[in-house]
Amino acid sequence: MHDRKRVLVTGGAGFLGSHLCERLLADGADVLCADNFFTGTKDNIAALIGQPHFELLRHDVTFPLYVEVDEIYNLACPASPVHYQFDPVQTTKTSVHGAINMLGLAKRTRAKIFQASTSEVYGDPEVHPQSEDYRGNVNPIGPRACYDEGKRCAETLFFDYYRQHGLNIRVARIFNTYGPRMQPNDGRVVSNFILQALKGEAITLFGDGAQSRAFCYVDDLIDGFVRLMAAPDDVTGPINLGNPVEFTIRALAEMVIELTGSKSVIETRPLPVDDPVQRCPDIALAHERLDWHPSIALEDGLKKTITYFKGLI
Ligand code: NAD
Ligand code: UDP
Repeated sequence: MHDRKRVLVTGGAGFLGSHLCERLLADGADVLCADNFFTGTKDNIAALIGQPHFELLRHDVTFPLYVEVDEIYNLACPASPVHYQFDPVQTTKTSVHGAINMLGLAKRTRAKIFQASTSEVYGDPEVHPQSEDYRGNVNPIGPRACYDEGKRCAETLFFDYYRQHGLNIRVARIFNTYGPRMQPNDGRVVSNFILQALKGEAITLFGDGAQSRAFCYVDDLIDGFVRLMAAPDDVTGPINLGNPVEFTIRALAEMVIELTGSKSVIETRPLPVDDPVQRCPDIALAHERLDWHPSIALEDGLKKTITYFKGLI
């Protein structure tokens, strides 16, 4: 018998996963973190290891997993372009085989299952901001396809298991998120700029910096995950989670320089292939169905993230 909810978090040793494990433990769950440590680390969950309601399992989601759980958060997948393009075949396998294995587990245990999907399913979008009914503009054979198409296929599987097997599913489309425990070497813009500024190195601005992104602080996002999981069963998603306040990448570079008090200069570099020009979530659905909206401003979130990175170097 168990009196606590048993929750599996795949990719739980990663950036988002480690924050989610913390939140679930604080909410009184029994947390099983499964991770193959491809991009995640034990350091991310060091404070949790040894806690009585936390369990760590080295496991690759491309292989089946037999455990007894009430809820599954499927986060396992490298998220940054440098990492997901390192072994693109494995990235697709992680998304697709990983989804099949976790959906199979949910089917057997009748667990509620959450999928960490992504704004990348919209590709290089032709409409702004993107709402959930926009079907996307994805290049199926480009270098980002292993991730984008892998995540699209995972969504397909979630909805087929929902229709065919009556599974209780939750699909979140996550937009750019930042915060402590982002990986320093992941090439993402926030970690790159902060580290470059703290080390006094040149800030590498890709293209002219006019491309824009909207950045969500990790605590806001995790709150959205938990609300989505707790929502009524007809809230399957897909549902956008992200901060709708847009900044150009150049403006971000300038803000990081200011907040770190750095003397770094901005240097431009070529824009990567298929780099989206603009990306901004329409979060009306999350607002309406989850009563969720981000509350942490970029400047405040950056300050906390800068403090974290200062501790690393
Ligand atoms: P991350 O790389 O820090 O975490 C991913 C975790 O999954 C790591 O701990 C990694 O070791 C693990 N993993 C990778 N392949 C695995 C496998 N085959 N088996 C088991 N574990 C595996 O990335 P993150 O930013 O925390 O992203 C978590 C999830 O959220 C991912 O699914 C990602 O696609 C999604 N997402 C993140 C963002 C973002 O801005 N951070 C945006 C959109 C979607
Ligand atoms: N970018 C940049 N300099 C860097 C890293 C990224 O100018 O050192 C740009 C990148 O070209 C993109 C934006 O910042 O336009 C966001 O990149 P990131 O990889 O963080 O996220 P994504 O492209 O997946 O939104």
